[in-house]
Amino acid sequence: MVPYVELNVAGAFQWGALEPEEGTVAESEVPGISAMRRSEESAMAYRNAEAMSAFRVLCDSEDSTAEAFLTLAKRFHASGRIREAIVAYQRVLERDPANDAAGCALGQLPALDNPALDELLLVSFDAQGEAERTRHFAKAVSGDYIYNIDPVGACNLRCPSCAQSRSMARGMPHNQMTLKTFKSILAKIAREHPKGRVIAVNLFNWGEAFLHKDLPAFIRATRAAGFRCGLSTNLNHALTVQRLEEILGAGPDVMRISISGFTNQTHQQQHARGDINLVKANMHLVRHVLDRLGLNIAIEVGYLLYRHNFGQDFVRVRQLCDSLCFRFDYGFSTLTPIETLQASAMGHIEDEYAGVLDALLMTPLDWFHWTAQAPGFVARPASECPLKTNMIAINSDGSVPVCCASALPENNVATDYLQVPFEELEQRRANMASCAACEQVRSVFLNGDKLEAVAKEFICKRMNAAGAFIGSERYPL
Ligand code: SF4
Ligand code: SF4
Repeated sequence: MVPYVELNVAGAFQWGALEPEEGTVAESEVPGISAMRRSEESAMAYRNAEAMSAFRVLCDSEDSTAEAFLTLAKRFHASGRIREAIVAYQRVLERDPANDAAGCALGQLPALDNPALDELLLVSFDAQGEAERTRHFAKAVSGDYIYNIDPVGACNLRCPSCAQSRSMARGMPHNQMTLKTFKSILAKIAREHPKGRVIAVNLFNWGEAFLHKDLPAFIRATRAAGFRCGLSTNLNHALTVQRLEEILGAGPDVMRISISGFTNQTHQQQHARGDINLVKANMHLVRHVLDRLGLNIAIEVGYLLYRHNFGQDFVRVRQLCDSLCFRFDYGFSTLTPIETLQASAMGHIEDEYAGVLDALLMTPLDWFHWTAQAPGFVARPASECPLKTNMIAINSDGSVPVCCASALPENNVATDYLQVPFEELEQRRANMASCAACEQVRSVFLNGDKLEAVAKEFICKRMNAAGAFIGSERYPL
């Protein structure tokens, strides 16, 4: 479950701004009574009308400055008048091509000549609700130290970008961890961390935990040990209400659902063997169970972005999440495991991955070249990799990889987690030779949280190329 790279570029997609317009306010409709007595709504209409009036004056004058247009552009943008905002930002750039505020804003807005613009501007989301869900999720998922533990080393799907679908999967463990072993692992974790430290145990890494019949018991044991508990699933299962009640009722703090389309035509391109209709039915079932049992589990839908699945599928999944009060998140899909990513960034790509590269919005090689020229990007040394500074993975057979992104047994640091003290494991991971390759290619995992600063422009370019409705003339390919 790691082919997803957290981009954390929510700022690049100002969905809240894409709310439907409540109706055009003509200049002649400007109210004449005191603004103090107007409702907030009519005050907004008043300011919009004022802005429209000023906009016409500015457009008619050859002396209008970039600053004046920028003020108006922001006004339009904030009030959801997206068409006017786009035009006003464009006027800014005509006068001041280096204006960052206008350039950034345009990069986040649809292009005016986008044929889907009318439809897209009608899409509205509960921006406040989404902000609350994001806060809830962030709190529930955090921890001072994170363990990704695979209860099962197999998956029911065959996503082409995932190690599970590749020949290398033959070398990965495919067993089910016993509850007894899992409890021993929890006990060791409790012994090896000081009291008061917040430990988060995620019941996933390379496997689909819903396949494990004892999953509810795994969750209960995690909670009983005093740890936070996270799930991640493709939700592609014939679930009964009873099974879902057992899993969710066991008390996980968070659950992430991974999908890549709203229709099977789109979803199945990457979630091979999956059926999005089953997933969507289960999403409704999850909401039903949460409400029925009065549970406050943070549910997040992680939408994996490829070249083919932005547009309408993206919008409709987002709307579905909104209606179910699930947090919606998205991120680039990339190649896994890390060993394949490293090779690919160096130009060595195995035949079985060749088709996958075409689907990616950003290949490891792209990232390698992009970061080389991105102003201000300083690659992180492998010793500071976030995948090993406060987190560790344990495979279903108890072996410990150098990090959660690694799947080659030769890069394991222990064959049995239970036999090696925590400090020794940390020492072995700190000195792993395989990390040097990550440093060499400036791996996305290694530099994951630096993506925001360098990736916005990249994202806009790629999204444009993929026919998406963000990005604009500002970032032509
Ligand atoms: S659903 Fe299965 S095959 Fe697809 S990415 Fe997750 S673990 Fe890999
Ligand atoms: S540097 Fe690479 S191999 Fe090493 S822990 Fe980080 S992601 Fe894993």
